[in-house]
Amino acid sequence: MKEKFGFWMDGAEQWAESRMAVVDPASEEPIAVVPVCDAACVDRAVLGATKAQKLWKETAPQHRRDVLRSLAESVRVHRESLAHLVSRETGKPKQAATAEVDNTAQLIDYFAEEGYRLSGLIPRLGDPQRHTLVVREPLGVVGAITPFNYPLSTLACKVAPALAVGCAVVAKPDEHTPLSTLALARLFSEAGLPSGLLQVVTGPGPVTGAALVDHPDVRGITFTGSTEVGKEIQRRAAGGVKRLILELGGSCPAIVCHDADWRRYLSHMVAQAYKNSGQYCYRITRFYVARTLWKPFFDEFTTRVMRLRVGHPADPKTELGPLNHEGIRRRVSEQVSRLQQAGATVLQAPLRQELRQGFYFPPTVVTGVEPHASPLHEEIFGPVTFLIPFDDEVEAVAKANGSPYGLAAYVFTQNLAKGLRLAHSLEAGSVWINGVHQALPEAPFGGMKESGLGREKSRFGVEAFTELKTIYLDYS
Ligand code: NAD
Repeated sequence: MKEKFGFWMDGAEQWAESRMAVVDPASEEPIAVVPVCDAACVDRAVLGATKAQKLWKETAPQHRRDVLRSLAESVRVHRESLAHLVSRETGKPKQAATAEVDNTAQLIDYFAEEGYRLSGLIPRLGDPQRHTLVVREPLGVVGAITPFNYPLSTLACKVAPALAVGCAVVAKPDEHTPLSTLALARLFSEAGLPSGLLQVVTGPGPVTGAALVDHPDVRGITFTGSTEVGKEIQRRAAGGVKRLILELGGSCPAIVCHDADWRRYLSHMVAQAYKNSGQYCYRITRFYVARTLWKPFFDEFTTRVMRLRVGHPADPKTELGPLNHEGIRRRVSEQVSRLQQAGATVLQAPLRQELRQGFYFPPTVVTGVEPHASPLHEEIFGPVTFLIPFDDEVEAVAKANGSPYGLAAYVFTQNLAKGLRLAHSLEAGSVWINGVHQALPEAPFGGMKESGLGREKSRFGVEAFTELKTIYLDYS
């Protein structure tokens, strides 16, 4: 049965004339309808946020910290219901959805503290009767546009730091996954977040998202999504000279050196390539493997990949759920077809009969790819990974950097000096040497080249929601 959701504005559910369906990726059946917010709805949401922000920015930082802590607590209390919604609308297995909810609470807690630590500067300028105060003020109303793959944790990296420093947020979730964002806004309201500080407008990117980017009272846009849409937002935002934080696509390389303790990390490598069915911005897409290791690495890697269990998100044995929507499945299939036409060898685990319905895609390993084959230079947002041999590390770095993207990179070696040398040579916002783990809230995260602008997480991801103001003080 389709459930009807409103958008969220000024602490209450609101309705719009036009609506769109949200589809269950595992069954292809509609599960809910949500409003399509046009420019007039967005305008009302921004107006409410502007009013709320004027009061919020005057509150004490410790008050904002305490409110954020109670929001994190409410996420923990409603862990089960939020995880259910995330799993339902994204198609990710329940366990992975629960991990995302836990991460969301952890991020909010972190930003509550980091926002509280926000500070300015008082540079010494020589004259004892004059001081210069450099203070940080909130940016104002911020538009937060998020993708389908991690609807809650990507939102937390935007909403929590913005609220912590005194901004208000108008959020625009992906049209395929708006339900968990709407649920979160309602929970925040019940947990004591004043009305208007988190508004949620739903609808397609080119309608609702574009209206948000264009709105003159939105002073900044924080966006996570594809590079293509990021570039469009950058063009539009230029009209209002808006602050931009862009967390965009990736095609992340891993260099497995001949001296790597690769068997020790193999399960992590497979997870980092296929997690969330490959719909993961800093997933490993391209493995460059020392030719001396090629045969055993290829055999053991593909054996593990072919064993990954694809299945329904509610089945506890499922490791990979369906892709999120038909558009993603079509694009990934088309990329694999182009690789086959270009002469690459494609290994795929066959899908079980019962998975014909739903946007499922089999785990895929590609070898023998020509260096100029176009999919090698595109983001592949699905469970498809390249294995490519190399003879020396200079060649491996050149190939790894030969991509328009620069989000993350991975190095496997037992030689720490070599690992650091390679890390410095790789054009990526984050590099992991040996260990593969989730990006931490305390460390900046973001991309170089066409993977983005600015950084999220850490104090840099908090300061991004502030303006610096210099006050010259003369008391001579
Ligand atoms: P997408 O770019 O298609 O959509 C992202 C959001 O932008 C959605 O809310 C969409 O409605 C909105 N949008 C689309 N057109 C718009 C427009 N013209 N104006 C304003 N908003 C618009 O991306 P997606 O398919 O939902 O997500 C996958 C992408 O997100 C991948 O490229 C992935 O790498 C990237 N991603 C990056 C990070 C990171 O931290 N760098 C994290 C997660 C996902």
